[in-house]
Amino acid sequence: MNAATSDDTRAAAPALWARLHRALMPDYNLKAALYWWTVVLLGLAVMAHCVLRVAAMPMATLVQVGSAMAIAMLAGFFPVRIPRSKNSFAAGEIFIFLLLMLHGPAPAVLAASGEALIGSWRTSKRWTSRIASPMMAALAMFGAGSLLQGMLDAANGLGLTNPGMVVVAAMLFSLVYFTFNTLLVTTVPRLKRNERFQVTDLVGMFGWVGMAFAGSAAVAALLYLTFRQSGIGVLMAVIPIIVMMLATVHYYFRQQEAHDAVRQAADKATERETELASRHLQELQASERRFHSAFTHASIGMALLSFDGQILQANAALRALIGVEDETPRRHTFQAFVVEPDVGMLEDQLARVNRREVEGFALELRCRHTDGKLAWVAAHCSFFSEPGSTSPCLILQTQDITARRQAEDGLHHLAFHDSLTGLPNRRRFRDLLAQAVERARDDQHQLYAVMFLDFDRFKLINDSLGHNAGDDFLVQVSRCIQQKVRTTDIVARLGGDEFAILLQHLENEHEAVVLAERLLHALAQPFLVAGTELTASASIGITVSSIGYATPEEVLRDADIAMYKAKAAGKARYALFDVGLHAEAKKRLRLEGELRHAVADGTLSVAYQPLFDLASARLIGFEALARWNHPELGAIGPEVFIPIAEETGLIVPITDFVLHRACRQLKAWQLSDPTFSALTMHINISGKDVAANGLVARVTHAIVEARLLPHHVTLELTENILMERLETALPALTELRALGVGLSVDDFGTGYSSLAHLSSLPIDSLKVDRSFVRGLRANSKEATIVRAIVHLGNSLGKRVIAEGVETPSQFAQLKEMGCQLGQGRHMSGPLEPLAADALLVRTLAARTQGHARFAPDRAVFQLH
Ligand code: C2E
Ligand code: CA
Ligand code: CA
Repeated sequence: MNAATSDDTRAAAPALWARLHRALMPDYNLKAALYWWTVVLLGLAVMAHCVLRVAAMPMATLVQVGSAMAIAMLAGFFPVRIPRSKNSFAAGEIFIFLLLMLHGPAPAVLAASGEALIGSWRTSKRWTSRIASPMMAALAMFGAGSLLQGMLDAANGLGLTNPGMVVVAAMLFSLVYFTFNTLLVTTVPRLKRNERFQVTDLVGMFGWVGMAFAGSAAVAALLYLTFRQSGIGVLMAVIPIIVMMLATVHYYFRQQEAHDAVRQAADKATERETELASRHLQELQASERRFHSAFTHASIGMALLSFDGQILQANAALRALIGVEDETPRRHTFQAFVVEPDVGMLEDQLARVNRREVEGFALELRCRHTDGKLAWVAAHCSFFSEPGSTSPCLILQTQDITARRQAEDGLHHLAFHDSLTGLPNRRRFRDLLAQAVERARDDQHQLYAVMFLDFDRFKLINDSLGHNAGDDFLVQVSRCIQQKVRTTDIVARLGGDEFAILLQHLENEHEAVVLAERLLHALAQPFLVAGTELTASASIGITVSSIGYATPEEVLRDADIAMYKAKAAGKARYALFDVGLHAEAKKRLRLEGELRHAVADGTLSVAYQPLFDLASARLIGFEALARWNHPELGAIGPEVFIPIAEETGLIVPITDFVLHRACRQLKAWQLSDPTFSALTMHINISGKDVAANGLVARVTHAIVEARLLPHHVTLELTENILMERLETALPALTELRALGVGLSVDDFGTGYSSLAHLSSLPIDSLKVDRSFVRGLRANSKEATIVRAIVHLGNSLGKRVIAEGVETPSQFAQLKEMGCQLGQGRHMSGPLEPLAADALLVRTLAARTQGHARFAPDRAVFQLH
């Protein structure tokens, strides 16, 4: 291939050329590429020339040439790298130079290019340099070798065979060769970078490699001289020695290099370590700075404490909290600022941390500022090792939670105290009583007593003077009670006008009685309320710990029972709970349990007491009365089980039972004869029924289910229910009244209902309490009252019913007063359903005859 064909190829196939160029020499510019091609083509030409020359040599020479070339190329595999420089030379130079001196440039060129091929193959992956390197070696060797041969030939011609001259010439030649070769090689990168050649560059090229070349040339010259004198034999002996020496040098240098590498690596490692260490130190210092800045400027109080609580350092927030100026108040312990009752708690925790039982702790403590002010503090304390420090200590973080604790205390007070009097409320009293019960159980000598105090006429005050006056009264009496008890006693307001007093650490139980008498006396003094002098009286029930209580509820219940005993005995007195009452209470408990099953067991039933029109003596309806036939105790009266049912909420299913049973019964009677189609049923409703939701639905359900007309059913509600629960009751009652259901005020006259109220209530009848009827005699007080009630009822358009009519005289008086309806044993007591059936049959028979009369002592309806 020559330049002309290359041009043709480029012209013919520019694409192929461009591809080849890109693949082989992407970083070569035009100049560099041209140079490369020139070198390669020239080299090839030189090589071809040399190959021809060598091929013409005699066989014996060829063997020598071949082995020298082989050694030279082999040496190319073991270059002697010069330590601490990037350079290396192949020891094969000695043999190449020897070949040159013995057989001329042609074999030396081949050997040099062979060695260069191996060398470049090992050191470079690029084809451009793998191809160009041997060509450059060939060119350099051809030029320099021809020069040396010319010199030697000239010297020979002049008869100058001085061995020293030969050595010097060889060394000179080697330097020329080296320079040539280096220039050829370094021209490529220079062209690529478009740099000009500078003579000074030559100087930098020498050094170790140049020296090694000169040394190799000297050795080759000496070998050449030896050969000239002693023949090939000496060479055969010397060459292996040289090879061994070179190999030794090669390995020695390699080892050296390895050592260097290790040392360098080690140096680097230490360097890195030092760097790391210094960086760590910097980080530590930075973190320390950050910590100190956080510590100093934190809004929460922070301190470093020793394990026994000594304050090593405190930030501004903490110093402000405890009132200390010094930043490192080492003479103080933190405990010194904690109030006495909390110190023990703190020291316990510090000791636990000290024993490494816990890593830290959190406590709420009261701290005292040096100015004496108290603050609630949430303290969090934990192990701490300061950045950079080796001795651990404790870090304390504190937050002022005074505001929160005050709010909590306020809430707590609200939850456990009565807002009107400030006294402990029922919940608080129960808790304190529970503690007393516990103490007495553990130690029999811890005597206590509980008083239950209820005012006898508080409702009257409230109703007549208004609620504000009632409140004023309660505040005054609560103060009065507190003044009379000892400081260790606890007075609580349980609700309404009920107070309880827990008397603790009694010497004997009689002390309680003494105090009760003192209280009764004090409370009997008049109080000035709303400008009115009021004399109040209270009933007090007392129970004592020797009864042996297990729960505070039992104590309160017995004190309550004793209080009712005091009321029953005539009010304004105290009563002691005794075991007899206790037995009663036990029975009550038992009934409570059994009543739960009564509805389902079928032991409940309903009795019916006939109601009569007094003027005509006609039967107009019945009052349904609940009955409980206890399987063991027999008949239990409603005055016993109805209050229990009301207390336990069982009244709701009981009322439902009575409602449904009575409505169905009434329907059956109405259907039994047209005469009875207008009969009515009175059903008693309790306060709890009114308070519970759904009264309207419950009542209408019973009426609808029995297919009754609503106006055939009348609900009886006591005066007290109406007064106490009027607000909750009114919407339901109004609705029922609108549906046509009758409403009657039961036990009228026993409560405090203001008569003015009556007109606005959705009621249609009043039922005069039997206590008034019982007292009916000519001109008696009761007669006046009943007459007034009848008069009032009539003027308000409400019918008046008298209950408990037992005698003909009562009957006659009521009739004379204009009372429309009545019930009572004079006409008939409550009847079992079968007995009521019989009554209806007899009524019917009497009707057919036109008249009916009551037989006074038989208590049954009798025909005339
Ligand atoms: P109450 O509503 O005033 O019922 C009238 C009570 O007087 C009945 O007592 C009745 O037997 C009684 N009685 C009837 N005639 C005479 C008489 O001529 N003289 C005397 N002294 N008493 C007479 P009972 O049945 O023992 O009921 C007592 C109270 O129990 C009732 O008083 C009522 O408040 C309540 N009660 C009865 N049954 C029920 C009920 O189903 N539900 C509710 N919530 N309470 C009921
Ligand atoms: Ca009643
Ligand atoms: Ca009644």
